Amino acid sequence: MTYALKSVLSIAGSDSSGGAGIQADIKTIEALGLFAQTAVTALTAQNTTGVAGVFESTPEFVRAQMDAVFADIRPDAVKIGMVSSGDLVRAIASGLRSHGAKNVVVDPVMVATSGSALMGEGVKDVLVSELFPLARVVTPNILEAEALSGVSISSKADMERAAQAISATTPGAVLVKGGHDVDATRADDLLYTEGNCMWISGVRIETSNTHGTGCTLSSAIACGLAEGCDVEDAVVRAKRYVAGALAAGLDMGQGCGPLDHLW
Ligand code: PLP
Repeated sequence: MTYALKSVLSIAGSDSSGGAGIQADIKTIEALGLFAQTAVTALTAQNTTGVAGVFESTPEFVRAQMDAVFADIRPDAVKIGMVSSGDLVRAIASGLRSHGAKNVVVDPVMVATSGSALMGEGVKDVLVSELFPLARVVTPNILEAEALSGVSISSKADMERAAQAISATTPGAVLVKGGHDVDATRADDLLYTEGNCMWISGVRIETSNTHGTGCTLSSAIACGLAEGCDVEDAVVRAKRYVAGALAAGLDMGQGCGPLDHLW
C-alpha cells in the first residue's frame, strides 16, 4: 500500500550538535509524522556550549537544492531558519517566488541560544524586504522582535506594539514568542493577525536545555500548515509540541542542551 505524506522543506543551517537548525527541523517534522526535506544554507561547527565556525553555502547552491526539491516531492510548507547573508536571502526569496511556495514560515534567526551571532550585519533589512512579504507566519523571539520593530520590550503591551509594527512588513501573522524575559513564570506568546491580538498561554518550563526551541516551534508550525490547519491551530499545536519536548527533560552536553523529540 502506498500513502502520501505531507512534506515540509526546511531552508536553514546545519547544527553539528544536533540540537537546533536543520537537525532540529528534521526531528520535529518526522516526529509529527510528516516528510522532511532540506536546503542547507550553512554548516556550523558547534556544540551545546557555542559555535566554533560557520561555513556558508553559496546562493546558487541553496537555489539548486530548492529547485531539485520543488521539481520532485513538492513541499506543502516551507520553514526558513538561519540565513546569514543578504545574497542567500535574495536567492531563497527568488526560489520561493518562482516555485509559488505556499505556507512559508520565517523564523528570523539572529543569535544562537549560546549567544553567537548567526546573521551578518545588514541582513535583517533584506530579510524584511525580501522574505517577510512571502511569509504566512513570522516567528521572532523578544530580542528579534525588538530588532525588527525598534520597540524596546519589557511588558505584554510592548509585545503588542512590536507585533503591530512588524505586521506592517508582512501579509502574514506575527508570532512574538514570550519565552524570554517579559514574565519569569510564563511563556505566553502573542499571535498578531490582521490587527487582532491573540495570547497563547504557556507555563515557563524551568530548564537550561532550550537549544533549538525556536527551530522546533517554527518547523512544527509549518507541519500544521502543511496539514491544512489555520495559523491559530498550527501555532497552538506547535507550542504544545515544544512544551512536551522541553518538559521531557533531556539533559545532554555541558551547555545549553537539546530538546527531546522522542517524548
Ligand atoms: N539555526 C542554527 C544552525 C543554529 O545553530 C541555531 C542555534 O544555535 C539556530 C538556528 C537557532 O536556535 P534556536 O532554535 O535555539 O533559536
